[in-house]
Formats: sequence, C-alpha cells, structure tokens
Amino acid sequence: MFSSVTSGTGSHNGSHCYPNLWAFKISINQTSSLAASLTFSSPPPAAAAEAPMDGATAAAPFLLIPLLPDESAAIKLLQSCGGRGGLRGGQQIHGYIVRSGIPPNFVMNNSLISMYSRNRSMDLARRAFDSMENPNVVSWNSIISGYALNGDPDEAWKLFEQMTTMHDVKPDLITWNSLISGNVRHGCNAKVLELFKGIQSSGLKPNSVTITGILQAIAESRTLELGRQIHGYAIRHGHDSSAYVGTSTIDMYVKCGDLGMARRVFDCMPHRNLFAWNSLISGYAFQGLFDEALLLLNQMQQEGIRPDLTTWNGLISGYSMKGFKKQALILIRRLKTLGEKPNVISWTSVISGFCQNGFFADSLGCFVEMQKEGVQPNSATMASSLRAAAGLALLTRGRDLHGGAIRRGLDGDIFVATALVDMYSKCGNLSKAFQVFERIKNKSLSSWNAMLRGFAAHGMAKEAISCFEEMRSSGFNPDAITFTALLCGLKHSAMVSEGWRFFDMMKVDYAMIPSPEHYACMVDLLGRAGYLDEAWDFIENMPQEPDAGVWGALLGACRSHKNLELAEAAAEQLFKLEPHNPANYLLMASIYGSRSQWERVETLKVAMSALGLKSRGGWSWIQIRKTLHSFSAEGNPHPDLGEVRFELLQMVAEMKRIGYRPDTACIALDVDEATKEMMLMGHTEKLAITYGLIRSEGNGPIRVIRSASVCGDCHTMAKYVSKIRQREILLRDGPRFHRFVNGRCSCNE
Ligand SMILES: [Zn+2]
Ligand SMILES: [Zn+2]
Repeated sequence: MFSSVTSGTGSHNGSHCYPNLWAFKISINQTSSLAASLTFSSPPPAAAAEAPMDGATAAAPFLLIPLLPDESAAIKLLQSCGGRGGLRGGQQIHGYIVRSGIPPNFVMNNSLISMYSRNRSMDLARRAFDSMENPNVVSWNSIISGYALNGDPDEAWKLFEQMTTMHDVKPDLITWNSLISGNVRHGCNAKVLELFKGIQSSGLKPNSVTITGILQAIAESRTLELGRQIHGYAIRHGHDSSAYVGTSTIDMYVKCGDLGMARRVFDCMPHRNLFAWNSLISGYAFQGLFDEALLLLNQMQQEGIRPDLTTWNGLISGYSMKGFKKQALILIRRLKTLGEKPNVISWTSVISGFCQNGFFADSLGCFVEMQKEGVQPNSATMASSLRAAAGLALLTRGRDLHGGAIRRGLDGDIFVATALVDMYSKCGNLSKAFQVFERIKNKSLSSWNAMLRGFAAHGMAKEAISCFEEMRSSGFNPDAITFTALLCGLKHSAMVSEGWRFFDMMKVDYAMIPSPEHYACMVDLLGRAGYLDEAWDFIENMPQEPDAGVWGALLGACRSHKNLELAEAAAEQLFKLEPHNPANYLLMASIYGSRSQWERVETLKVAMSALGLKSRGGWSWIQIRKTLHSFSAEGNPHPDLGEVRFELLQMVAEMKRIGYRPDTACIALDVDEATKEMMLMGHTEKLAITYGLIRSEGNGPIRVIRSASVCGDCHTMAKYVSKIRQREILLRDGPRFHRFVNGRCSCNE
C-alpha cells in the first residue's frame, strides 16, 4: 500500500541537467581536435540568461566569459564555481576552455579537478585527473581530497598508495591532512590514528589542521586517554594557541566526558569563539548541569557574543535528554522571540529525548508541531518518532509514519528501517516487521537484533533461533543484546538445552561475560520449565551479585510451580533490592493467598501501605480508529463502562458454558469467592478487550496494551474470547506479547 506513494526522491545538485557534456569525451590534452565537435545548445552568455543559477557567484562567470578569454581568468572563474549550481557554471567554463584552445597545463587541470570535486562530481574530476600524463603533487592532492571529502576515503587511500609507489610523488602535509579529514568525516577513527603515525614516520611535522582533525576523530570515538596525549602533543609543539586546536580540544574533552579539562582549556583560551562557547554550554547541558550552562550563556552574552541556534539547541537537547520536558518545550517555543527559528536539529533532539525518557505521547506531539512549523523531518527524526509510536503500540500512527518516511525517501535509511522493524513488532504486526526486515539491503547488527527481539517478544523460539543462525552466517558477531533477545525468546518454549547451548556459546565462542540480564533470562527459562532447584544453584554460582531481575524471574517461576520455600527466599532478596516495587509484594501476596495464608497477605498489605504503594494500579488501552481509549483502575471511568461491563458479563456466562473457571487465586484478599470473581471482572485488560470487540470494525486483530503484567485470569479469559468470538487478540504487557488465536496463546502458558 505504501509503494503507491514512492515519489519525491528530491532534486539533486542539477548534475543530471548536463549529462551529455562528457559524451564528447573531452580530453584536455586533445582540445583542438575535439573543440570543433563540441556544441552548446546556446552560447554561454545566453545560457546563463536562459537558466539563471542560484547565487550571484555562479551566474556571474557567463556574463564575463566573452570579456575575459584568457587562461588566468578562466582559472579564477573555475575557482568561483563551488556551492549550489556551481557545477553547471563549471561545466560551461570547461567547455569554453576546450573550445577556445587554451593549452592544457597543471594549474588549469588542477582547477578543473578541484572544481568538479567541490561540486561532488567525482567521476568528472577523475576524468580530468586521468587525462593528465604526469600529475604533480597538487593534482594528486586535489583528487585525493576530493574522494576523501566526498565520502570515499578508501578510494582516496588507493590513490595515495598509487601516488607514492607507482608514481613516486612524495605526499606533503596537505595530502595527509585531507586523508585525515576524510576519514574523520567517515568515522574511520582507527585509520585516522594510523595516518597520524604515518605523518610522523614520513618525517613531516603535523600542523594545526592535522591536530584539529585528530582531535575530532578522538571526540567521536570517545577515547579520552588518547585525547590527553594529543592535547599534550599540541602543547609541546605550540599548536595550542591556534583557535581551531583550542576549540577542538574543548569539544574533544566535552564529548569524552571530562568537563573539568574542557573548562580549563576554555578558561586559558585567549580568544574564545562562538564554537568554544557552544561546545562547553552543550557539554554542561548534556550532563544535566543546567546552572553552569546558563551561567556560561549569561557570561557569553556579557562578553558581547550573541548565542546562535547551535547554542540554544545544545540547551534544548540537554533538557530533553535529562527529562526536563517543560523546560525543553518552553525554550523551543520561545526561540522565535529570540530571533531564531527552531530547525530539524532542535526538534529532533526534543523528539528523541522525550522518547528516551518514555514521554512517547509528547514526543509524537512534537513531531506534529514540527511539521506544522514547516520543518521537514530527517532520518533521525523519523526513527525517534517511530520508537515513540512503538512505545505506545500505536499501529495506525506507526503506519502513517512509515508512509511519511517512504514519501521522503527515508525508509531506506538503516536507522529508520530498524525502527520500522521494531515498531511493527511492538505493535503486534510481526509479519510486517519481517517483511520490512527482509527488504533492508545492508542489515546492521541493530536491525538483526530488532528482528530477534520481535520473534522473542512474540514467543517464536524456532524463528528466533533460525534468525540468529542466519545472522551469524551473514558474518555478524552477536552482541549482548542479541543473546538477551535469543535467551528471552526461548523461555516460553521450555527449550532448556538450547538455552544452555547459547549461554555457553556466548562465553566460549564470543568471550563475553554474561550480564545479570542474561542470568535473569536463564533463571526464567529454567524456572518456567520447572527446574527450580537448578535455577537456585545457578543463582548461587553467579560470579556477580544477582540483581532484582534475577530474583524476580525466580519468584515468578515459584508462583507457577507453587514452591513456597524458594519463593520466600527470592522475595526476601527482592524486598531488599527493590523496596518500592509493588509487583514483588503483590506476587508474594498472591502466593500466600493461593494457600489461604491470609495473615501473611495482610502483613504484606500493611508493609505496602506503609511504603505508600498502590495495590493494583495500571491501565490498559486500545486504539479504535484514531482515538485511544484507556481503562484505568483509578481516575475517571470510561464513558462507555456500563455497556462494556454488560457485554463482558454476557461473554463470561458464555465462556463458563465451555469450561472457563475464574482463577480467583489471582485476588490475594480474604474475601468470598463471589467478591473475588467480581473483582476479576474489573481488570482493565478485560474491559479493553471487550471494548475492542464492541467497537472495532471488521475482523482484524484486537490490540490491547497493558502497563503491567497480565494476571493469570485475564490471560485465560483472553484465550476463551479468541475462541468464542473467533478473533485474534494481541495483548502487550510490558515488553512482551501474547497472541491469542482460537483458544491458545503464543506464550504457551
Ligand atoms: Zn487480570
Ligand atoms: Zn500468553
């Protein structure tokens, strides 16, 4: 359905307008013979008048060509053909040079190479370069830096090797520096350091451009120790007085998390530019030190430096990431009064920061607001918005976002594609998730992990295992997240021996140290399969302290397998580790309740109320068309609650006729059975499912989200409903999914 809207790939830099110029095979060394065959649709000045270009610099050359026919003028004109629309101008001048028979020389060719490189036309630059018989170091530098800066550092390196080995041209510092900055831009940080060593062993002295490039690479790779060494090197060789080096040093320390050093360098800088201020302000904001950040902002303004959008974006991003929702929103909305218009970076930092802090609805709200302001999303914006839709399991919204990504040509971006896989699987549409996943051309480890998590959440152990094997045979090394997903995927299928196999594989084949999360998955797997003693031994022999996740997994298994002794041992640990988590008290209370040990239940309830914990909060929700309907134990009841209750009672009567018995053990209260049954009917997931049956159109699956774990009785009820109403029910509780079809659940419980 989305393929119909595949359009709007965006216009490029206009190079496609003149594809035919090279069809004439211009060789700069054979200008005179080919000049005659070169024809232009119109003479250059007219062409300029006919198709005016963006910016005066690009348009001006044409008007001047007839007046300035000499070589030096042509070179000057070529140099001015950068920026937007520069390519057309450059090509016309190139054609003019060919036609007017100016003899080829180094300077002219080098200007051509550099003009084409600056206009990102590396094919054309390469042809100009290849046409030279003995390129000099300047020519080599032009072509190498062209490749390096246009995103192909490997080709740049190949040429560098050719230059030194086959052509015996000695690289100078410019060659090295352009290789360094190309690799910095491309994120090949290891290569950058290798190049730095290369400069030193070739006998050249790195200059401030070199140091700046190295510092940028270190900032991105977050290798603080190395950063300190380079900083020391810069001081010893007197580069620290350069404003570029100083600013990059600050930025490096900020990104490596050493704010103290960043501040020291900043304080010692004689001339602090806007970049230095911005870098430090955003550094403080990112660490949540807003007082310091605002103080600096103040100081900066007092020193007569006007904050720009980057300054504000640093603050906005800090507020959003640290969960200061209100401050972030106030600032982004106030920017206009400060004379700045929030750009895609401002909005994206709010959208992704909110999403990371679980403010999914606000995140999506900002996405809408941003578009109303006329700001177009980029791939990072789309990926974050998709994560927000996934967080709320809003399938319709997720689909809209998918359509938007396709329209903007962003769906091929690996981050967007991975977020799509995640969104579809969290919204319960695993087949669509798989379809998107299959179409990803260059799958990343994250995309494999997203698919694995999808299979795991839907309890599809076999598919998870084959996905894992396929991933390995495609040459990917699994990471900690992969193994968590995999082990988690096994637990509902009781694949204990497989679990051990993968747990050992992680340690032996991949030399990874299992985290408490991996241990918790194993305990869960063992416990669910009924191997409680084995699970206990496993915990006892853990090399690190077991955390709440590990004990929680054991406690859950103890309830299913009715082992009071181990349950009490696990609960004791949990109450110490997580005194404020009501789920632990409730789980233990239900174990006591199932044995009618009401005094113990009462003790737990007293403990809970002393700690101010609520006994059963949470809510369930369902989306009907564009509206979210939430059912909550507290607060205002849903307006249609009466109707929902009536329908639910009808259905329960029907279910009872085919064997449903309310699981009153889910109510850990010393009350009679009838009261317990009535209380069970108030569980929000039952209400939401029933509402879905009444209101949704067609026969599609009913999707309900529950904020906490589903209780045993609601789980049973959903199975029966899927049978008697012949509807698929998808129930998400926390991170996992239950898919009920014809009386069975995907979790096998
Ligand atoms: Zn329930
Ligand atoms: Zn289930």
